[in-house]
Amino acid sequence: MSRRRRIYEGKAKILYEGPEPGTLVQHFKDDATAFNNEKHDVIDGKGVLNNRISEYLFNQFNQIGIPTHFMKRLNMREQLIREVEIIPVEVVVRNIAAGTLSKRLGIEEGTQLPRSIVEYYFKSDDLGDPMISEEHITAFGWATPPEIDEMTALALRINDFMSGLFVGIGIRLVDFKVEFGRLYENELMRVVLADEVSPDSCRLWDITTNEKLDKDRFRRDMGGLIEAYQEVARRLGILFENDRPEQSGPVLVKS
Ligand code: UDP
Repeated sequence: MSRRRRIYEGKAKILYEGPEPGTLVQHFKDDATAFNNEKHDVIDGKGVLNNRISEYLFNQFNQIGIPTHFMKRLNMREQLIREVEIIPVEVVVRNIAAGTLSKRLGIEEGTQLPRSIVEYYFKSDDLGDPMISEEHITAFGWATPPEIDEMTALALRINDFMSGLFVGIGIRLVDFKVEFGRLYENELMRVVLADEVSPDSCRLWDITTNEKLDKDRFRRDMGGLIEAYQEVARRLGILFENDRPEQSGPVLVKS
């Protein structure tokens, strides 16, 4: 249907050529994958919710001086973004033990960590995103030492900001993953936040019930994923009554 040039298709998103040079359109699909693609499903409306939640968070980041690739939301499933060169390192920040940290180190899920822990993973589907150290990143040239410092500092600012934001709406930010890109402007290069930040890439637990409001509902076959993402959007104040996530046709976008 679309005549735009497709630049890249990933597991949950498609990137199209943007309207201006240096811009792209990021399209959120309904696909959910886990365990390095072994588990795959299509969950009606997930892309719409992630588009909205990520838009909300990236706007907040831009406002507090955390540079991002985000320009504006275009419609229910798409955002206009700046084209960046993705750094092939996933940065994970953890506040509470869960997921692979719990498995790897035998720490019970839900244990408060003594301090926030930053981890790096090499972005490679073929290898299943292996955990790496700063040594690997610099030795193999995936990022320079100043770029690692910048990514780490930004990831920790994002953690502080989001922890506070979510506590305010009764949600614990357990952990999250972010990706960064190099944005070239004239002679200058800046490291900026890229990709998305959504319940697909964060662990979010209700503060009082510990109910999971994130992708673990899919990973662990718990069901109720859309309802959980809707609950996050509702508490953020961005779920409007006539804004049903299953809508995919033309809708009026309030900017
Ligand atoms: N995460 C992600 N993409 C990945 C791997 C992890 O968004 O490819 C997120 C995940 O949602 C969680 C955090 O990073 O919020 C830490 O994930 P973990 O290492 O525990 O791995 P997982 O259990 O997600 O495989």
